[in-house]
Amino acid sequence: MIWNRLAFAFGLAALACASTSRVGAQENDHALLHQVAGEVIPDALHATIGKLVGFGTRHSLSGNASQTRGIGAAQAWIKDSFAQIGKDCGGCLAIETPSENFTGSRVPVSTAFMDVLAIQRGTTDPDRVIIIAAHLDSRNTDPMDAVHDAPGADDDGSGVAAVMEAARILSKRKFPATLVYAVLTGEEQGLYGGTVLAHYARDHHWNVEVDLNNDIIGNSRGGDGTVAADRVRVFSEGTRDLETEAEARGIRYNGGEIDSPSRNIARFMAVLGENYLSDFDVRLIYRTDRYGRGGDQVPLLAAGFPAVRITEAAENYTREHQTVRNENGIAYGDVLDGVDFFYLAQVTRLNIVTMAALAMAPAPPQVGIKGAVTYDTTLNWLPVPGAAAYRAWWRDSLDPNWTHGRMAGDATSIKLEHVNIDDWLFGVSSLSADGYESPVAFPGTSGPAGANLTQPK
Ligand SMILES: [Zn+2]
Repeated sequence: MIWNRLAFAFGLAALACASTSRVGAQENDHALLHQVAGEVIPDALHATIGKLVGFGTRHSLSGNASQTRGIGAAQAWIKDSFAQIGKDCGGCLAIETPSENFTGSRVPVSTAFMDVLAIQRGTTDPDRVIIIAAHLDSRNTDPMDAVHDAPGADDDGSGVAAVMEAARILSKRKFPATLVYAVLTGEEQGLYGGTVLAHYARDHHWNVEVDLNNDIIGNSRGGDGTVAADRVRVFSEGTRDLETEAEARGIRYNGGEIDSPSRNIARFMAVLGENYLSDFDVRLIYRTDRYGRGGDQVPLLAAGFPAVRITEAAENYTREHQTVRNENGIAYGDVLDGVDFFYLAQVTRLNIVTMAALAMAPAPPQVGIKGAVTYDTTLNWLPVPGAAAYRAWWRDSLDPNWTHGRMAGDATSIKLEHVNIDDWLFGVSSLSADGYESPVAFPGTSGPAGANLTQPK
């Protein structure tokens, strides 16, 4: 990044080797982001997952009759843990437990699915919401078996541990935007916890800037022997789930099919990973989720909220969704031994840095663009509360991240002379007075991050 920073300093961003470097927003260095990354403790993550495994099973249908075993006992512990963290920050967390009943192919009898949310209200922009989420429920080989042990150490004890660590660290600070720490249930039965969260966000008129869905983030060694301790995958949808036929036609014609708000948040995370983590890469995957599979970010996307899925770079399928057993010399099951806590700490740092960076920065703007049949491109945007400045960005249509930036000051438009609208992809970010920069927003209907132009379902 040093080269990129120098390039910007001299206004020579165009010289950065565009095909390989990750540029994008965020060339400012923020002490706060280094601090929060530095506070992640692998032993704390270990303790959380050890506690969760100790509940035997956390299957969504395992009930709440026991205080020591099953989903109800685990949820009670999560609530107590949030309450303790809230006490330590002088009551900064409001704990909410929204619940809805569902039946489905894996829920034969109508059952309540409850999320546990800890809400840290923003100081100046509280309706803008940044969510970190993971699912508490676990399963073994038979998805309907609510009785036998299902430790779920990696899937998704690892994600829950990251959520709790984020709450512990970020609750010590104050942020302009609201942070939500979400522990969901019912993922393995049909993404019900994500649905409850999406409905709660819609009903409370949250302007969700992103849902960071962490699911399976603690294993660094693939089942085929691949060692992938230095990278994580961030999956993001290409176009918004809610786009209309007319919007899709416009995007197909003029571009924007790889520039949803979720995608540009994933790009933003890649830059943060490079700047604030050592030897750790964010691998951008241009898909909503792994091939043919799903997660709790999907109901959020369906409701019109930006969301990404964060998952370890190499999965081990002898651990996931497997009853703990030995068979033909192979050890199956999602046990504590399969979690690499140093690796999980890196993924947790990425989440925490992303949340802090998003919460400190203003929201991305809503952007318009014009310039057809001229030699210049003009971007204009609506003013963003809390923004002190804006930056225009552009990149070659084959580049993975934004390569060229130009500050616009506090104006709400910029004319990029001799930058032809036909040849580049464009966007705009907003900056706070202290230099925190938002993700880049693509013009038009592709990219209104955090601004729900279309009413959520
Ligand atoms: Zn999972």
